[in-house]
Parts: sequence; C-alpha cells; structure tokens
Amino acid sequence: MERTGCPFPPLMGLSYTRSHCLEMPRHYSNWRIGLDLDNTLISYDRVFFEIAVERGFLPGDFIGTKRDIRDHVRRLPDGELEWQRLQAHVYGPAISAASAAEGALDFMRLARRRGVELSIVSHKTALANMGSEQLNLRDAAREWLRHSGMLGPEVVPEGSLYFEDTRAQKIARIASLGCTHFIDDLEEVFSDPTFPPGIERILLSATAAVPAGPYRAYASFREIAHALIAD
Ligand SMILES: [Mg+2]
Repeated sequence: MERTGCPFPPLMGLSYTRSHCLEMPRHYSNWRIGLDLDNTLISYDRVFFEIAVERGFLPGDFIGTKRDIRDHVRRLPDGELEWQRLQAHVYGPAISAASAAEGALDFMRLARRRGVELSIVSHKTALANMGSEQLNLRDAAREWLRHSGMLGPEVVPEGSLYFEDTRAQKIARIASLGCTHFIDDLEEVFSDPTFPPGIERILLSATAAVPAGPYRAYASFREIAHALIAD
C-alpha cells in the first residue's frame, strides 16, 4: 500500500495502491463542475422544520421533506403568504442555522485537488421584504458560503459565484461558463429544453423514487464523488 508521492489523496477513507494511483485518468483538468446553491450545497430542511414548528404551522412530530412542509403550510389560512414569509426568513436571517449538504465540502475539495474548476450558479432573488425591512438574500448566502469554507481560492473562488434572476439566465450562465457537469436538486432545471445537451446532468435527490429524466441521480455528494472523481 505505497502512497508516498501520490498527488491524489484517498477518497473519504478509501485506500488505494500506488499502481491504482498511477493509472488514474488525468483528464479532470478539462472539467468544470457547476453547482446549484439552495438545497444542493445548502441544506435547509431542518431550519424550515424548526421555524415552521416555532410559528405554529407544523406539529412537532411532523415528518417530511422541505416540499412536504411547503405543501402543509400552503394549505393553511393565508398559507401562500405565510410560506413566502417563512422562506424569506430561512433564506435570510436564519440562513446561519442551515447546514452544508453532507459530503459537499469534501467533494469540492477533492474535485479541486483533481484539478477540476468549480463554479456556483444560483437562481436566487436578491431582495426579500421582511415587513418594513429589505433583506439581501444573496449577501446572506455569500456570507454563509464564506463561513462554511466553500468560498475561497482553494474551493470556489469568489469570482466563480454567480447569482441570476431567472432560471433561463441561470441556464445561460451554465452554458457560457463551459460547464462539463452541473449538479442540481431540481429536475426542472435539467428538463428545461434550453439546457445545453452536452453538459452532464447530475441530480441530487434523496427521494427514494426519482422520476426518470435526462440526468443521473444520486442521493448524496458522497455518491457523486464515487461516481465522478473517485478514480
Ligand atoms: Mg436548488
């Protein structure tokens, strides 16, 4: 098990032989992996749950995903408005309580060590109304990324973080960056007819039954790392 001098560190506890290392493909330096932000790199499920319970929208024993919480809140009186307020709160002042998606930072660091370029492309509203206060959700997200260690010269450089106003602009950005792969939690992004056909579509979905579509689906960043850049 000779690892001395091997430029590639073992992937999350996996070990490899020296010959394995020498046989590693070297094409990663041509790769540019684009990453979605909300519910891909940042996981809000727990924060949505906690704040919805706090506001009396959900029973404390509620079990479900962010989508289940949304559906539940929307069915309440003034549900649509309450859901929008809840989102503005979670994506704004409460974002610091959100967690990094499991394995995401390890994946990003490993990708960079392989020579892969990384970008983050997010379709995110800039401003949210919080009563009389206006909140910049993009600034809140940028701060979260810095704090999580995902934004910086060794991972995603500040200049490779893009916020776009619409899904169409997001897709245009992904295309103009020359991404070879894009990772997103929303099937709709990949099913959009304008999504460039040459880009590998990676769907991050923890749901057991993922609808078939023009993408490869994985339940976690750990799985994505194994499939894409483990060797
Ligand atoms: Mg998303």
